[in-house]
Amino acid sequence: MYCVKCGVKLEDTEKLCPLCGTRVYHPDVERGEASPLYPARKYPVMLHPKTVQIVVTTIFLIGCLVTLLCNLETSGTVTWSGYVIGAALMTYVMAVLPTWFRRPNPVIFVPSGGAAICLYLLYISIATEGRWFMSFAFPVVGILTLIVTTVVTLCRYLENGRLYIFGGAFMAAGLSTILVEFLLNITFNRPYAGWFIYPMVPSVLIGGMLIYLAICRPARETMERKFFV
Ligand SMILES: [Zn+2]
Repeated sequence: MYCVKCGVKLEDTEKLCPLCGTRVYHPDVERGEASPLYPARKYPVMLHPKTVQIVVTTIFLIGCLVTLLCNLETSGTVTWSGYVIGAALMTYVMAVLPTWFRRPNPVIFVPSGGAAICLYLLYISIATEGRWFMSFAFPVVGILTLIVTTVVTLCRYLENGRLYIFGGAFMAAGLSTILVEFLLNITFNRPYAGWFIYPMVPSVLIGGMLIYLAICRPARETMERKFFV
């Protein structure tokens, strides 16, 4: 017997075509008890997200533990493994931790990622006895985290005004390069060079252009037509 719709070969016992699902009916054929010609349709096994998270977390923990043990075995104390484990923990907080939540809220995970970067840099500065954390790394990471957090918060809770948000973010990032150079100079006793101009000018120009487009409707419509956005 064959399927009337797709023509696939059928066992007499089959009630539905295994390929196309059409009902099998033949008035002259008695339905026996033979097993079907084809196995029941199997769907690919989907891994549960929790399983993936547990596996990834276990890999992270085993990796950290092995690194620590190797380091202790060879040096007797924590030396290079601190950097490796710190980087692994930072990556975990930024990339894996949000997946533990059903709908990860970027308003929470962007600042916690920034905090993870800060803690890692703090560890490096203490381990290397550097004097650059409080006067350079912390404020720079803090400013960037603040800008990104502000952008994701506004984008999440405001319906409109993306152009204002991104325009403002470009301007803030551009202007913050003044502070970055200042902090770099006082931290490492470098002379004033004024390089901040190069990243600042394009950032502020792009930001200003976005805000101009946000304010000026005809200009925005022209751009939309030109770039099909
Ligand atoms: Zn069929």
